[in-house]
Amino acid sequence: MTARLETRAVHAGEARRRPYDALTVPVVMSSAYTFADTEAVQTFVERRELDGTPDRYEYGRYGNPTQDAAERKLADLDGGERALLFSSGMAAITTSVLALLSTGDHLVVAGGAYRRTRAFAAETLPRFGIETSFCGPDEIPERRRPSTRAVFLEIPTNPHLRVADLESIAEWARREGVLTMVDATFATPINLRPIEWGADLVIHSATKYIGGHNDLLAGVVVGRAEQLDAIEEARGILGGVAAPMEAYLVLRGVKTLPIRVHRQNESAQRVAEHLETHPAIARVHYPGLASHPDHAIARRLMTGFGGVVSFEPVGGRPAASACVDRLEIPRIGPTLGGVESIVQQQALFISPDPVERARYGIPDGLIRYAVGIEDIRDLIADLDRALGPLATRGGDRDAT
Ligand SMILES: *Cc1c(COP(=O)(O)O)cnc(C)c1O
Repeated sequence: MTARLETRAVHAGEARRRPYDALTVPVVMSSAYTFADTEAVQTFVERRELDGTPDRYEYGRYGNPTQDAAERKLADLDGGERALLFSSGMAAITTSVLALLSTGDHLVVAGGAYRRTRAFAAETLPRFGIETSFCGPDEIPERRRPSTRAVFLEIPTNPHLRVADLESIAEWARREGVLTMVDATFATPINLRPIEWGADLVIHSATKYIGGHNDLLAGVVVGRAEQLDAIEEARGILGGVAAPMEAYLVLRGVKTLPIRVHRQNESAQRVAEHLETHPAIARVHYPGLASHPDHAIARRLMTGFGGVVSFEPVGGRPAASACVDRLEIPRIGPTLGGVESIVQQQALFISPDPVERARYGIPDGLIRYAVGIEDIRDLIADLDRALGPLATRGGDRDAT
């Protein structure tokens, strides 16, 4: 579809004619698809063996019509040839890596990644003879080995919202014959389209912004048919396919993705600017602020800076906990990207052990605030109310 993003989010991927002339794509709640007779089975099997692309459905783990529509829509938004939907973001990540890398291959995880992605790379992959290096985005060429098969990046990162220079990394990787995989969950295709900057594969936890209503788990990978066909084969074996109802909720969520994300971009920018001048706040991390180390890169690559703001109140962990507990609008929880604002002191979710927490480089006093779609005036007033007692008690901005 050649229309603009907001129009494509509503219409792309959906057949013009739908069963029963329904306005929405039907949720096909069927675990399997039946055959009229033996000849139909034989034709299906011959076709499948011939070109690997059967023209009908067979068994739910190999796909369903609702999932197909969601995949076509998501491929369109990210500008990829194909998309594959999964039961979670982690299923999308693990299945893609296992499909494309083999024993003896080397993976570079650059610039910090989701905690479970790191665990998969550090603990699971080595058990199958796939080695991993962790490094900063500027150190990727130094880590390159003859066996390096892929670079995995998260843009922006959690919770410091770092934005790697994808354009130059992808250009380097292409020259070297290395695949670039980008987890762009925090950006969404509305703010960053990694394929346009040279990435081979884009992954999203659709649990977050794409679903957008804090009511589903799903993941998606978008890219070229060459890689996606292999990942689809692996999905059929590993089994992390999205259920029809989840696929439908993704499809429904994506229709409002652009308007939600535009709103969240605006609100997060306002929250970040407000907090940056607030006497109770020591530091604010948001790529839309000129003070952010990657502001220039973010302005070049991204069309919006996202709905997550991280900040550190003066007074470290006790001050952060007091702030979080006094906030009345956002709920405390380990997710983001939905219509409800969510806060968390991320470090506290990692481990009860301060030494273990320190390994992740996330200060205990850091609050991740993922804005929802509530009225920005209410969100700011709520923050001011929560921070008020800290401002009068703390005062000295350098005291952390
Ligand atoms: C949540 C998240 C994941 C994992 O996705 P699930 O849907 O929870 O499996 C991966 N990457 C990022 C950046 C995330 O925020």
